[in-house]
Amino acid sequence: MISVEMNPNIIRNIRKVEPYVPGEQPQNRVVKLNTNENPYPPAPGVERVLAEMDTDRFRLYPDPSAAKLVSALAEHHHVGEDQVFVGVGSDDVLAMCFLTFFNSEKPVLFPDITYSFYKVWAELYRIPYECPKLDGDFRIVKEDYRRESGGVIFPNPNAPTAIYEELDFVEDILAHHPDEVVIVDEAYIDFAGRSALELLGRYNNLIVVRTFSKARSMAGMRIGYAVSNPSLIRYLNDVKYSFNSYTMSQVSIACGAEAVRDQAYFQKTIQKIVETREWAKEELQKLGFEFPDSRANFIFARHPRYDAGELFEALKKQDIYVRHWDSERIRQYLRITIGTREEMEQLFAALRTYFKNRT
Ligand code: PMP
Repeated sequence: MISVEMNPNIIRNIRKVEPYVPGEQPQNRVVKLNTNENPYPPAPGVERVLAEMDTDRFRLYPDPSAAKLVSALAEHHHVGEDQVFVGVGSDDVLAMCFLTFFNSEKPVLFPDITYSFYKVWAELYRIPYECPKLDGDFRIVKEDYRRESGGVIFPNPNAPTAIYEELDFVEDILAHHPDEVVIVDEAYIDFAGRSALELLGRYNNLIVVRTFSKARSMAGMRIGYAVSNPSLIRYLNDVKYSFNSYTMSQVSIACGAEAVRDQAYFQKTIQKIVETREWAKEELQKLGFEFPDSRANFIFARHPRYDAGELFEALKKQDIYVRHWDSERIRQYLRITIGTREEMEQLFAALRTYFKNRT
């Protein structure tokens, strides 16, 4: 077989991108605190829906409009069905947003330390971008977002810092970009505070993006959505249908719609995670870690005495997975997802042993 590398003409015509590298998904049982999943199962009704599914229907394509899920979400958020757009995880929704709304010669703005997929999409779709630096405390500097732009996107809480900005901050950015779309990626909002959804009535340039992967314990189902005004949602649908109208599987549509209905279970799960997070903050502090105050389901922490890369490797040897990046400014940090209390106890025990053996 002749390798394609032998033919520079073919290579020249291939689009090259630096891909997004997701956290590891080990298939054996480990203490998995590396990709911000939820340690608790999805709402119990999801299991019932799966058991009752009519597999004969799998012969047929799913409903391209995912009406059942859209309608459950519209009811949940008290908005019209024409204000909701669904996709295969919020990554899919965000990618569609980049394609649809950032079609300008001017640069899209997003923080230099943030969800690293934004840069990948910008490059993939040839969208110019600028990344204002976070300040020394990892906060987004709102004044940096007062320049001309082709749009703005940021997560709230930000990732991987876990810092939540209050709504007046979001409003400031919306007000300074009346002619561009501002996307607030609320992947972690359920663990944080007030949502930018409250601002939808006042700003026609706002898109709020949400996911089922975190607070709803359904990362494996791949469900995400955007909420905005009907006109922006219509543009998003036009782009989506131009790609692939049957994006969501019948299974995701049915299970997603069921999960939205069980608010009580949802709230209970969030509460457990927030309680564990607050306790984990105290434990990490006792161990000497430093971290910005987390309002998400993870903590972005460094230890002044121990190298984060070495800690990461040592934990992994004991089947405890956290996240570590090799990039310059955050090399000294670990991002630790909040698991169950037992999982966190295992992590802290491993850290204590590691520190003891080092002194
Ligand atoms: N936005 C942010 C800020 C995230 O951290 C993630 C998860 N890695 C996503 C979006 C994508 O989540 P999903 O595609 O699972 O909905």
